[in-house]
Amino acid sequence: MDYTILVNNKNLLLPDYIPEDLIEIYEPMGSKLDKTYINRLNIKAYKAFKEMQKDALKEGYEIFIDSSYRTYEYQKRIFDQTVKEKGLKHALKYVALPGGSEHQTGLAIDIIFKRNNKMIEEQTENDPEIKWLFSHAHIYGFILRYPKGKEKITGFNFEPWHFRFVGQELAKKIYIQNITLEEYYTLQKRAQ
Ligand SMILES: [Zn+2]
Repeated sequence: MDYTILVNNKNLLLPDYIPEDLIEIYEPMGSKLDKTYINRLNIKAYKAFKEMQKDALKEGYEIFIDSSYRTYEYQKRIFDQTVKEKGLKHALKYVALPGGSEHQTGLAIDIIFKRNNKMIEEQTENDPEIKWLFSHAHIYGFILRYPKGKEKITGFNFEPWHFRFVGQELAKKIYIQNITLEEYYTLQKRAQ
């Protein structure tokens, strides 16, 4: 598994791309605190998340995975549905193309959190949990994949909840240089 794989609307995954090393995970679903649902995630990314979750809890932050692996078909359904409801322009702006969601790699997670026993689903950059993630996720190998101010580069709107596992080494580089995965690859090409 290449943890540094670049996926976006210009670098699409094929419909039959199914990542290796997926394991079943059990996480709470949205606001339903009493329910868990089965999803799948890359095993190394999951182990890294569990470490991060443990350390976040020491600070009093209860973080969970809301969304992880998604199939090509699933993304296609979301995209087609959005086109139907809101038009192609809206869909292209707010939804990843089929094959363009890195959730298909099994390396991306959307994070939600619980505060005072309530699930918070409107994550913003001002939430202390999110702030903690912004400055600590790289230690565990995650990057904030769609940062604010980099929308034109990533092709995605700012998503303070979406984190991508790239491994500790690359995550640290990207964090220190304050760049995106796209910019990392552009710099790599220039250096060759
Ligand atoms: Zn996401």
